[in-house]
Amino acid sequence: MGKRRKKYKRVVKREAKLPTVFQCPRCGAKTLSVRFEKTDTPGFKKAVISCGSCGLYAEYPQPVPEIWEPVDVYAKFIDLYLEGKITVETRKPEKGSEVGEGQQVSEGES
Ligand SMILES: [Zn+2]
Repeated sequence: MGKRRKKYKRVVKREAKLPTVFQCPRCGAKTLSVRFEKTDTPGFKKAVISCGSCGLYAEYPQPVPEIWEPVDVYAKFIDLYLEGKITVETRKPEKGSEVGEGQQVSEGES
């Protein structure tokens, strides 16, 4: 007796989606995001960490390898942050226009 079994191959698509939003070490909100920017160094990129809630802003002190994911940067950032080894600024995210922070160079007013 041959029992024919239909082979159901269930392919569960597992989206390997790594988190890109993390918990902010300063305000505790889960709005900390890591952004990458190009650098002049091939194979490396610049990592910028910012929080949408409290305005925390930090740039990773050195270029990170291109293969790094946001989660890698976040882990390192937390270490540096807790050790006070990274410069953290506050940039209020609520800024309607891009204009404003313009550097006003006063041309020698005398
Ligand atoms: Zn924050």
